[in-house]
Amino acid sequence: MAVDHEELLHLLNRRQFLVGSAALASASLMPWKALALSAAPHGFVQGDFEVTVLSDGSLRLPLNIIAVDASPEQLAEIAKRLGWSSGKAEPATNIPLMKKGNDLILIDNGSGNKFQPTAGKLAENLKAAGIDPGAVTKVVFTHAHPDHIWGTLVDGDKLFLPNAAYYIGGAEWNFWTDPGLLSKMPAEMGDFVKGAQRNLAAVKDRVTMVKGGDEIVPGLSVLDTPGHTPGHISLEVSGGEGLERFIA
Ligand SMILES: [Zn+2]
Repeated sequence: MAVDHEELLHLLNRRQFLVGSAALASASLMPWKALALSAAPHGFVQGDFEVTVLSDGSLRLPLNIIAVDASPEQLAEIAKRLGWSSGKAEPATNIPLMKKGNDLILIDNGSGNKFQPTAGKLAENLKAAGIDPGAVTKVVFTHAHPDHIWGTLVDGDKLFLPNAAYYIGGAEWNFWTDPGLLSKMPAEMGDFVKGAQRNLAAVKDRVTMVKGGDEIVPGLSVLDTPGHTPGHISLEVSGGEGLERFIA
């Protein structure tokens, strides 16, 4: 899909650039098409960071997730405008890869192959971008929903990013790893709980808990943005006057 670079640049042209689903969700009126980077990766520079946006594919979700109070007619009209033809919402899932010095930092690692067939494309798009998963040094989980962390494990029990250090909000970790959580949650959330516990357990020996104000590396700081999940975090990327230039 062709991307309107000018539109994207406008969306991202802020003094400080926020990454993570909360930032995207808060801009609920932004044109989804501008973010549907389902083809080649796109990149830009923010401060000391080279940011490459990689596609993990897209999701298929109930259409009313975009506007819970809208009528079926309104939802159909919105879907048509956005080019969603499946009868469901089709949000693109994009993953920022941030390079600074010797660090290659991924923000979330996508759905993997156990969530939805239209998602879990990060591995092939990393490969297409010429990046070896073993070269990723850090992974920051914004939260532990399937489309953000189920890509942690491949081939059953191997880490997709075997050499990375992992970071997650402490409140998020505590929420999902509670052994009693499964019995407290509605039955339809069972797969989310089991998936979060399976993938988080895989990184327990290499994870660092973070909270608002912490820095992953200098210039990449954590914001507490609970709501979507109890321990959701976003990241703020420092950098002068905003976007300086596209690099791809
Ligand atoms: Zn989520």
